[in-house]
Amino acid sequence: MSNNTLAKKSILFIFTCFFILAFISGCSSNPAPIENGEEGLSRELEVHFIDVGQGDSTLIKLPNKESILIDAGKNADSELVVNYLKKEGIKKIDYVIGTHPHEDHIGGLDVVIESFEIGRVYLPRVVHTTKTYEDVLLAIKNKNLKVIEAKGGVTLDIPEVNAIFVAPNSSEYKDINNYSAVLKLTYQDTSFIFTGDAEELSENEMLLQSYTNLDTDVLKVAHHGSSTSTSEAFLEAVSPKYAVISLGENNTYGHPHFETIDKLNRHQIKYFRTDLQGDIIATSDGTKISFNQQPITIQNDTNNLVEIQSIDLKAEVVILVNKGSSSVDLTDWKLVSLNGDQVFNIPVGTILKPGKTIKIVSGSKGQEGPDTLLWTNNNIWNNDGDPGALYDNQGNLVSEFK
Ligand SMILES: [Zn+2]
Repeated sequence: MSNNTLAKKSILFIFTCFFILAFISGCSSNPAPIENGEEGLSRELEVHFIDVGQGDSTLIKLPNKESILIDAGKNADSELVVNYLKKEGIKKIDYVIGTHPHEDHIGGLDVVIESFEIGRVYLPRVVHTTKTYEDVLLAIKNKNLKVIEAKGGVTLDIPEVNAIFVAPNSSEYKDINNYSAVLKLTYQDTSFIFTGDAEELSENEMLLQSYTNLDTDVLKVAHHGSSTSTSEAFLEAVSPKYAVISLGENNTYGHPHFETIDKLNRHQIKYFRTDLQGDIIATSDGTKISFNQQPITIQNDTNNLVEIQSIDLKAEVVILVNKGSSSVDLTDWKLVSLNGDQVFNIPVGTILKPGKTIKIVSGSKGQEGPDTLLWTNNNIWNNDGDPGALYDNQGNLVSEFK
């Protein structure tokens, strides 16, 4: 055996060892997905709508153990998102999608790209010159990654899962939101659509595209529930069973807008809100989708959940309580003083969380406050006895107090 052959053999040996080692460590860091004993039964897809306040960040854990990250919240959310991914055992993000260059979507993306091994990066083609966006592009460049243009018709090559961008469909828009890369993900019989901040104009374009059917089980509601998105026509085409709204508590934009919540309610779509419920996790086994919590109850299901707990006729204080296990939207519900036939319309956006109470006060001492709504500074309740009734926004009697 010549020295040359020996050298070749030892190199081969080293390579073989390396290959085996890599394979073994690959196995140990990726626990086998089979849990039910039968192959294929327990392969799940998880979608984590991470609570980043007023912003978006969605982690998708694919059945083959790869992952997708769509947006990463604001600059201030970098650490939160990185820690969330680490907690979920993410070491490599196979597909990173920045929907559009607004700070509440791509703010944390530079730090995420620096912190993990990254596969492919998808961004819409848009010129935008903020420090935040430049930071993202720099992080991409520093890792020697290339940007793949996200636009209608582009697919992600993922085994078992169909992932296709259905927007943007034009090359130029006035409003940056309309550049939003919108991804539709289908896993067997279940599907999700992630809309970024796409507005009605882009929605109308999506209605005209022919890459794929828009009909989807779970809709990530566009633009944090703004009324400028989620048009009636788009909602009808998507016809989701569930909707998820990602937004911050008491945000300055008034999101979610009443019009959007009203549409979801009218279409009997069960919805979730990160501002009220924190992280929302949907799990699909390919046939059905389950969530880590109860949706915010739509009006039709609320009978017997919300009650008039008490009416203090002298102090002019009515207390409503939510005895159910999910938050109830009291928008346009009516509290009626039956003797005087006076009606109080509960204001838009009033949410009663499970186990919580809300006061409706009247009379000269009545004052608005936390969990306290002011009806009027006139006296409403007749001290000699005055029953009250509560109606939902469909006019159904929900509760009576005598
Ligand atoms: Zn946004």
